[in-house]
Amino acid sequence: MHQKTEIAIIGGTGSQISLENPKVEKIFTPFGNTSSRIIIGNLKGKSVAYISRHGIGHVIPPHRINYRANIWALKELGAKFIISASAVGSLKKEHHKKKFIMVDQYVDRTKKRKDTFYEGGELCHIGQAEPYCSYLNDLFYNTGKEIDNMIIQNGGTYVCIEGPRFSTRAESKIYRQWGGDVIGMTAYPEVALCAEKELCHCCIAMVTDLDVWAGKCPNCGIVEIAESCSKCGARVEKLDVNVDEVLETQQENIAHLKAILEKAIPKINTERDCYCRHRLEGSIL
Ligand SMILES: [Zn+2]
Ligand SMILES: [Zn+2]
Repeated sequence: MHQKTEIAIIGGTGSQISLENPKVEKIFTPFGNTSSRIIIGNLKGKSVAYISRHGIGHVIPPHRINYRANIWALKELGAKFIISASAVGSLKKEHHKKKFIMVDQYVDRTKKRKDTFYEGGELCHIGQAEPYCSYLNDLFYNTGKEIDNMIIQNGGTYVCIEGPRFSTRAESKIYRQWGGDVIGMTAYPEVALCAEKELCHCCIAMVTDLDVWAGKCPNCGIVEIAESCSKCGARVEKLDVNVDEVLETQQENIAHLKAILEKAIPKINTERDCYCRHRLEGSIL
């Protein structure tokens, strides 16, 4: 018999969370293995399940994550709320490093991921007009505002690319024109799978870098990359994203992530009243 828990955290790159009195659960799923064994423990008095999205030791690349197994297993443990942490690149100048964004929309640019639990027979066309839980987004945003030195925004569009490579400059500029706020490799299909299981889901996007659209003008600061600055004509220094930069900034983000999880999770009202638990109504054919 597995220990039940209503709240789960999916930890991303550089966001390992430790729980008090941890117990390890191995869940077998119809889709194969979860990314890591699931830890169940306490976070500020609340029972929480934790799964490491990239596996212990960060060994599973974004396109090889068994998203279906992870979400299925967390639902099996009784989860109603899934809180995902994601390190992301910024697509806008105002989303500087270390800013947190509670994502409320996404653009899916992935190509080869299993993104539904409904493979035939019973069909499901899950609605994704409002893909994230507004109750969780508001709760985390309001909590984050009260944390020292935390800059947090409620709402933003996450462009999810297949990876594992980073974008070209041409791609990065297009995603900006599409209205993307941040870019990453893991929000999809977690979000759609949570919807199919009628789970409340939020994605805490933590900016680690400025992706590859950005350059640095000696006079104007961060500008879109070009040979010369469109405002003052000075030579623009190219900025590139690399893994070291992502990990280094995420080291700084982790304290804020822990703080927001510890403050927001105990406030979650598990008698939920939001739209999320009715998502399958009108979706099954
Ligand atoms: Zn909800
Ligand atoms: Zn300039």
